[in-house]
Amino acid sequence: MIYLDNAATTVVCKSAYNKMIKLLSDDYANPSAIYSFSSSARREMNLARYSIAKLINAEPVEIYFTSGGTESDNWALRGINNGEKKHIITTSFEHHAIINTCKYLEKKGFDVTYVEPDEFGIVDPDKIRRAIRKNDTFLISVMFANNEIGTIQPIKEIGKIAHENNIIFHTDAVQAFGHIQIDVKELNIDMLSASSHKCYGPKGTGILYVRQGIKFQPFIHGGSQERKMRAGTENVPAIAGFGAACAEIMSKNNYNQAYILSLRNHFIKRITSEIDYCIINGSQLSRLPGNINVSFAYVDGEALLIQLDLHDIVCSAGSACNAGQKQVSHVIKSIHVPELYSYGTVRFTLDEHNTIEEIDQTVDELKEIIIKLRQMSSEYKTRLKV
Ligand code: PLP
Repeated sequence: MIYLDNAATTVVCKSAYNKMIKLLSDDYANPSAIYSFSSSARREMNLARYSIAKLINAEPVEIYFTSGGTESDNWALRGINNGEKKHIITTSFEHHAIINTCKYLEKKGFDVTYVEPDEFGIVDPDKIRRAIRKNDTFLISVMFANNEIGTIQPIKEIGKIAHENNIIFHTDAVQAFGHIQIDVKELNIDMLSASSHKCYGPKGTGILYVRQGIKFQPFIHGGSQERKMRAGTENVPAIAGFGAACAEIMSKNNYNQAYILSLRNHFIKRITSEIDYCIINGSQLSRLPGNINVSFAYVDGEALLIQLDLHDIVCSAGSACNAGQKQVSHVIKSIHVPELYSYGTVRFTLDEHNTIEEIDQTVDELKEIIIKLRQMSSEYKTRLKV
């Protein structure tokens, strides 16, 4: 199999796997217990908290373990102590964990402004500034990197604007965390969501970073775990695995970006020179190294994905068929990809385990599949008179 869907999830790395086996089989105590058998589980949690904090230049006490990116996003938006203020600013191309939490908050009487990115998938900080309502905006939430098109947002500038206006700044960094450098202090970030399974840890755990001094409320009520802020017996094996994955990431040279970038550039060069009627979506400059999002005219993205799957190549589509109706994702819509192309959108996300041979094989298969799919498209035949 050629796995090109690393934005969906990543393989668990060896050090995370080994750590988890140890905690599942030997050191399985409840970390809140007071007998000495629990000390190993507690120590592993502290170690994980330390490694995760170090990766983003935070303090260990600023890290709260959650069940993953979705919970962290929910908590960030719903847990902030907002007093009388009712206005939130976010963007129209956030992950559904943010968008749907905002929709929920709107029903509860909050007001949300959804700022549109430009055609390159970048949010203009000035648009964020203009959306601020004096004495009413209490939170700005802008994703670090988009999950479909991989574009990296001007986080530092947006954080600065938030702070100049006494507004809390949260970023959903689920796609960026562990793949590019993040320094929460330098980038003016108050709250940050991250997920273990997107960076070689196990599924079902993540973190919410909350800068010390920020007032926020628990989201899940119960016991006194996580300094009384997030109740429930901790998923110690997963947390320790997440920590081990972060320690391994830290030992790599600049996240192996140069290698991944070389694969991506080769992929894009071949696609754009060997397949006609295709466009690469999103900025090529401010983008996660492993992300390629491409739209092919006269092709159905889901059909392409299924054909690639039959050839043992795994990627994801930017459109889906819902109740017999084709729907383009809100991200692809937000950057105004022309309709002729938008239905044929696919996302390939590479990582350090991929090879140049895999990329070449993928492009070779893509070329043949696209020819076949276009031969079945009446629109293609009439427009091009083939
Ligand atoms: N935010 C972004 C940007 C994501 O890409 C994802 C998952 O794809 C999430 C949040 C949700 O993370 P999790 O799968 O850990 O709940």
